[in-house]
Amino acid sequence: MTAPFGQSTVLGYPRIGPDRELKRAVEAYWAGDLDADALRETAAGLRAEVWRTLRDAGLDAIPSNTFSLYDHVLDAAVTVDAIPDRFRALRLDDLGTYFAMARGTAEQPALELTKWFNTNYHYLVPEIGPDTVFAARPDKPLTEYAESRRLGLDTRPVLVGPATFLLLAKAADGAPAGFRPFDRLDELVAVYADLLGALADAGVTWAQLDEPAYVADRTPAEIDALRAAYTRLGALTRRPKIFVASYFGDLGDALPALLRTPVEAVGLDLVAGPGNLARLASSGPIPGKTIVAGLVDGHNVWRTDLRAAAARGAVLTGLADHVAVSTSCSLLHVPVDLAAETGLDPDLRGRLAFARQKVDEVVLLGRALRDGVAKLPPSAPSTPDGWRDDPVRGRLTALRPEHSRRGAYAGRAAAQRERLALPPLPTTTIGSFPQTAALRSARADLRAGRISAREYDVRMRAEIAEVIAEQERLGLDVLVHGEPERNDMVQYFGERLGGFAATVNGWVQSYGSRCVRPPIIYGDVTRPAPMTVEWSTYAQSLTRKPVKGMLTGPVTILAWSFVRTDQPLADTADQVALALRDEARDLEAAGIRVIQVDEPALRELLPLRAADQKAYLDWAVGAFRLATGGVADSTQVHTHLCYSEFGEVLPAIDALDADVTSIEASRSRMEILDDLRTAGYKRGVGPGVYDIHSPRVPSKAEIAAALRRAVAAVPADRLWVNPDCGLKTRGYAEVRQSLVNLVAAAAEIRASL
Ligand code: GLN
Ligand code: ZN
Repeated sequence: MTAPFGQSTVLGYPRIGPDRELKRAVEAYWAGDLDADALRETAAGLRAEVWRTLRDAGLDAIPSNTFSLYDHVLDAAVTVDAIPDRFRALRLDDLGTYFAMARGTAEQPALELTKWFNTNYHYLVPEIGPDTVFAARPDKPLTEYAESRRLGLDTRPVLVGPATFLLLAKAADGAPAGFRPFDRLDELVAVYADLLGALADAGVTWAQLDEPAYVADRTPAEIDALRAAYTRLGALTRRPKIFVASYFGDLGDALPALLRTPVEAVGLDLVAGPGNLARLASSGPIPGKTIVAGLVDGHNVWRTDLRAAAARGAVLTGLADHVAVSTSCSLLHVPVDLAAETGLDPDLRGRLAFARQKVDEVVLLGRALRDGVAKLPPSAPSTPDGWRDDPVRGRLTALRPEHSRRGAYAGRAAAQRERLALPPLPTTTIGSFPQTAALRSARADLRAGRISAREYDVRMRAEIAEVIAEQERLGLDVLVHGEPERNDMVQYFGERLGGFAATVNGWVQSYGSRCVRPPIIYGDVTRPAPMTVEWSTYAQSLTRKPVKGMLTGPVTILAWSFVRTDQPLADTADQVALALRDEARDLEAAGIRVIQVDEPALRELLPLRAADQKAYLDWAVGAFRLATGGVADSTQVHTHLCYSEFGEVLPAIDALDADVTSIEASRSRMEILDDLRTAGYKRGVGPGVYDIHSPRVPSKAEIAAALRRAVAAVPADRLWVNPDCGLKTRGYAEVRQSLVNLVAAAAEIRASL
């Protein structure tokens, strides 16, 4: 075969730069401190640096067009010219239009942002209607390819595949009922044919089309459409060789369908999708195709067991003409380079691999597959004894059902009513108050040693006192301490729990210029000391009204961390739950009467295939109940959910058995309440009455209207009044006015009951 695929590749590489250079550059551009040319120059420099890194590491198949100024799905939309008219109408230049779609303008809200499969990356949802005119706009992939050529590299441009692009899109406003973007596949494939033609003209040898949407459940019609699309693209006379990549799971029936098409290479995730291997074996020999084996985990930070991976790869060599080694998915989802983490415990550091280290693993595996496995280093030794905690393991084996079961709700509700003496339609907030510049600089000062821990403590207490006084003035019923001490709702706990490690530079892109630094859970989870009790009790000492203790739930802690893989996730969840259970009991003993355990990520870890979802929900709910099941019936347990469509998990929300659930609802106009009722939910509920994601102040009338809809759906004695989410990203001026209106609207509806 001419121009073979190569022996080793990655499906993508972090684009933020080793020191988040991209974040700094785009934010400076938005602020007007950097012009477009300087931004483009920084971007080109970052791309060249990645290509050189990959080349010097010995990778022989190098991707391009994996860079993005904001999001690769937005780039794909631009590449097929699917720019909604509402943005064209703004008449901005290319970069202006691009960032308008990403971030919105005064006139136009941004494209919707949503989770990229089961990762913490978020993509912008293309809006496709029956009239969207697709056209090939290959400028970006061509520019990047030309840049890489100047470095002497024949890179492989990466595009979101046409089927996945449409499956990730949503119907544009005004599309007729029943219209699905996927209906437009034939027209879009015609445009991909043009794109491939343009790439071929530029000298591109291989192109990568990503079709991860097929690792989720797909209908036979959708799978057949995939086959038809690649049969058509494969039949083009003027095109590069086509590599269809999949990741995040098993392709299932889509795998044999793809193998029947003329594409030259198919990529499989053999980490998250071990079933792919059996599926391939049962398909029999695959003549003329390259299988790109995703053997190195691109979605977690652990070193690969190279010998085990090579053994899996060896199975493939018997089946396919050519086998190349790759990462299981793009390395976008792991931090850039472990070299920056000099402060980590050497035992832990020796077990980690970030993007740069994973490239080395891929190269080693690629060589081993060609030359035999003998040269591979042995597997990592088993977990060090010091990472075990026998007490927590003992507690887990001794767990009985009653640890997760509180008294019947009716009894709890009565006990709480008596203890809390709240008015009907109690008002509250979700936890955080604005994270002001002063708070952020106090944290930076503490980190840099410019202020002492004592001084930091003084400042946080002053802030808490302010937040309590503010809420008293506003007339809220259940208060919060405002979470000023929390950099992040997971990181804060990660820094205080045993078995967790924090990195100094382990940034991962979440969306656009926003990066997060997830903690690493490497050992058994312990709670060396109470984590929140001081702040909560201080806040409670300042008021007679109940102050909510505020914890992050076990599932959310796992979802926003890198997790250990040497034991089932469910066991790690229970260990975190036990630490939270102890914290909740300490809060209760210190006089806190209401405890909120946030689980905004409950849906995030939901497996992509329906067959796996029940088992997940069982342990996720179990962990929450273990965390909250240790407090008295008279202590009120709240939970908070947001960020997702909760449709599929409503029965699980009911099963959490929280006394009160606050849930994002304002954008769905309270429809969630009917759905919750249908799912059997009969406890307290606080549908968010206004959207905190916008700086707009909701009027009293608007909140009252939302409450009227809520009262029609839920008996008033179970209804709470609160915003959609925490207030940390807002400013004080708008928060104050919004809450004045919220309290007034609640009073109006209360009076009408
Ligand atoms: N208690 C958290 C806050 O108010 C909840 C954040 C969230 O839902 N993501 O900030
Ligand atoms: Zn929220």
